[in-house]
Parts: sequence; C-alpha cells; structure tokens
Amino acid sequence: CGIVGIIGKQPVAPLLVDSLKRLEYRGYDSAGVATLKEGQLDRRRAEGKLVNLETELTRHPLDGKVGIGHTRWATHGAPTQQNAHPHFCEGVAVVHNGIIENFAEIRDQLTARGAQFTTETDTEVVAQLLASLIRNGKTPREAMQATLGLIKGAYALAVLFDGEEGQIMGARNGPPLAVGHGEGEMFLGSDAIALSPFTDEITYLEDGDWAVIDRNGVEIFDTSGNVVERPRSKASTAY
Ligand code: GLU
Repeated sequence: CGIVGIIGKQPVAPLLVDSLKRLEYRGYDSAGVATLKEGQLDRRRAEGKLVNLETELTRHPLDGKVGIGHTRWATHGAPTQQNAHPHFCEGVAVVHNGIIENFAEIRDQLTARGAQFTTETDTEVVAQLLASLIRNGKTPREAMQATLGLIKGAYALAVLFDGEEGQIMGARNGPPLAVGHGEGEMFLGSDAIALSPFTDEITYLEDGDWAVIDRNGVEIFDTSGNVVERPRSKASTAY
C-alpha cells in the first residue's frame, strides 16, 4: 500500500501512476488517483493491478497538475472499485494508509447528523469529518487540525480540497510519509523510492506531524498547530 501527492508543472496523472508502480512492492489490491483541474476534483479508480487503473485512465483521461494517488491494502471493506481510494466528500479528497481505530463511533455520530456514507471503509470518516467541518465554516487548515484531533489509529494521509489548486495536505501517525522538494513543484510520498523519479531532497514527517505543501515549499505543524522544523536530506543518505 502506498501514497503519493504531486503539485507539478505538467499533467500529473501519469506521474502519479509511475510513482505508485514504485510502491507496488508493498502489496495492494486496488488503486486510484484524483486531480484538481480548474478547482474541480475528479478521480479514477480500479480494482486489482495498476494496469487496470492505467486502462481506465486511457479510456477516461484525467487532466490536472495537482493530484494524489493510492494503492490500497484493504483492511475495512472489500477490495472493490467503490471502496478504492481516493474517497470524496463534498469537495474533499482523501487517500489513507493504515487504520482509523475509532471509525465506527465517528461514522455513527456523523450518520446521526445526516451524513451519507458511500463506502465500507474506515477511511471515509476522514473525508466526511473534513467536509462537515468546512461546511461549518472552518478553513481547510482548521478542518485538518481538528480532524486529526478526532481520529485515533495509524495513518498516512494525503488530502486535496477543491478550489485549493496550489496545495496538498498530508499527515503522519505511524506509516511513513515523506515530503519531496522540487523547483516550483512539490511532492508527498510513502517513501523516497516513490519520489525518486522527481527528487532526492526529502523531509520525513514525524508521528503526529501534519503538513501543507504548495509550489514554494512545505509548512509542517505538530498536533497543536505549532510550526515545527524537520530535517531535509538527500534520499541516498536517508535510508
Ligand atoms: N484502512 C484503509 C482501507 O481499508 C486503508 C488501507 C491501506 O492502508 O491501504 O481502505
């Protein structure tokens, strides 16, 4: 299973798939990508091997220079296209590796308030929480920090918000998540290997960190929202 995110200079869908191929060694049962174009989210997902996602992308190309991708190792919900990430809710797109331990409790609370879930995954609560906080007037950053305070478990996350074409948010608690530094482009990935086609300048998030990347760089925060500094190093020395 793996995660990638790219704020690029060219259409990112093929780059996301290329990166996901480098994460195939971790194992997976389905895959998907989402991009933002003119502020709008769109996605393609497929069961099984990445070649199925590539076929889907050939049939229905996905434009956009900002995007996230995922290979899924299903823990909650069958490995179907419907359960494949990215998960969407009202202009929020989420990919996740790990397990949200308290998803049932959160899902029941949101359902009681009228939320309609469309997958069997634990992950969908993250998209639903972010969307509900934004609906209630929070900014994407506020929503991200509040959501991370509500979920329990292990996660690497990457999130796109519609209308926010210049940024991707990430968070780490358990599974690794790396920021890749480019020139006028920036990356997120499960490891340096995923980012090796693009950059070897890597910053690993620490547990409890969350980050906002844009074309100019990265801001990293702790659970309380304080800015934290994490070392940047050449990937060859990082593993
Ligand atoms: N728990 C999530 C799911 O089953 C993420 C699995 C993964 O790490 O790929 O969809």
